[in-house]
Amino acid sequence: MFKSIFQELAQLVSLRSLRARIFLFILLAGVVPCVFMRYAILDNYEERAAAQREATVRNQLLVVGNHLLSNNYFQTRPSEEAGYSSASRDVIDAELEVISNLYEGRVLIVDSSLKVVKDTYGISEGKTMISEEVIQCFQGETSSYYDKEHGYIEMTLPIEDSGAVSAQDGQDTGRIVGVMLTSISNESIVTTMEVLNRQAVLLENLMFVCVVAIALVASMGLTRPLSQVTDAINKVQAGYAQESISVPGYSETVHIVDAFNQLLKRMKALDDTRQEFVANVSHELKTPMTSVKVLADSLLAQEDAPAELYREFLSDIVSEIDRENQIINDLLALVRMDKKVQELNIASVNINELTELILKRLRPIARKKDVELVFESMRQVTAEVDEVKMTLIMTNLVENAIKYNKEHGWVKVELDADHQYFTFQVSDSGLGIPEDALTHIYERFYRVDKSHSREIGGTGLGLAITKSAVLMHHGAIKVSSVEGEGSCFVVKIPLTYIEQ
Ligand code: ADP
Repeated sequence: MFKSIFQELAQLVSLRSLRARIFLFILLAGVVPCVFMRYAILDNYEERAAAQREATVRNQLLVVGNHLLSNNYFQTRPSEEAGYSSASRDVIDAELEVISNLYEGRVLIVDSSLKVVKDTYGISEGKTMISEEVIQCFQGETSSYYDKEHGYIEMTLPIEDSGAVSAQDGQDTGRIVGVMLTSISNESIVTTMEVLNRQAVLLENLMFVCVVAIALVASMGLTRPLSQVTDAINKVQAGYAQESISVPGYSETVHIVDAFNQLLKRMKALDDTRQEFVANVSHELKTPMTSVKVLADSLLAQEDAPAELYREFLSDIVSEIDRENQIINDLLALVRMDKKVQELNIASVNINELTELILKRLRPIARKKDVELVFESMRQVTAEVDEVKMTLIMTNLVENAIKYNKEHGWVKVELDADHQYFTFQVSDSGLGIPEDALTHIYERFYRVDKSHSREIGGTGLGLAITKSAVLMHHGAIKVSSVEGEGSCFVVKIPLTYIEQ
């Protein structure tokens, strides 16, 4: 239990698990945009709120500016001129106070000689204001600056006397007679932002919990079919599952399951063949041993058996042992062919000479059965083959043609070639092979007529060996036969061996 949790966690950390990847992907896809959106919305709000505040203050100051001009605020001082209306000045000062109180700020009025004529804080009045922004404003460049860090908006606003003639160019474009330097607090914006931020964080946390839940459910749900496939395979592996598994899920998992079922089928077929082969081998090897035991037992049972009987039984025992030997030799030949890395000793071989040699060896058997053995060669053939395996192929085919022949029959061996392949054809006037048996004759231990085959010393392995040897040379073997009339085996092998 703990081990599996630990494994799951290790996979999660290493990101090798699909479930972990899906979980993280959904989590990131859900949470990252939320965080970005919070910052983007708050940032946007702050900028818009500051711009709006600045525009409102600017409009109000413009109105005050006009009042300043219409009341000759700059030209007159209460002490200087008796006609100055101190009531008007008080009204303007009150207006400025209201603005500075309303926006928690400070307003300074600077005249053209850079002297501060009004400070709503009352501390800089009469002082000279040498500030870059103020000087630039006198030159017609207004400035506005939002200091986020310290929380204030600073701006300069020219007081333009549109009726006055510019001293510089004499044109009636208005003259800047003073500058209003204002700095207002953004406290209210910050307060609103803090409230908004708190709500956004709350929402974000809620979203986070929802996204984690969705990610957990989705990652588990999406990978469930894969776990089901693994469970089903494990059940098969443990041995208590059916022949094939079925996991309805995604089309991808269905493909995996199909591929697995195919593999399972193939493995089962291989297992069946192996079991059948082992059963056949045991049976084939047991038969001569049983005969030997029966012969020996019957000799032992007779107390004073004559020497002739001993001789006869012993010669039977020898032929059974020969048969056992034959089966073992055939099996060994087959096993050697089955090896994964098949050792082929490829050399250029004169096939005509090889055929002559094989026919010479088999002639005595043919003579015994009074079978005529004919060799017809269309041309001289030299091919790159493994001589030993080629000998096996030819011997088995010709030997079968003689063995399964009638008395006074014939066997015809034909050799021909084109520019790519040579063909070795063995036809006979023998018993023939029934049609339904034709597809089975290359199977191990398959014999059309078991008792007859045993009688004439067949093991049922000859054609299996022959076919393996032909395939090792990348060739093909074909048979055509009519029961009671004869058979014809054709082997086609490339003249040049191709490594694959
Ligand atoms: P065996 O060692 O018994 O001959 P093979 O694998 O060589 O085994 O042959 C398989 C079976 O095919 C034989 O038992 C026989 O019945 C049949 N067969 C093979 N060659 C011929 C042939 N030329 N004519 C008739 N039957 C044949």
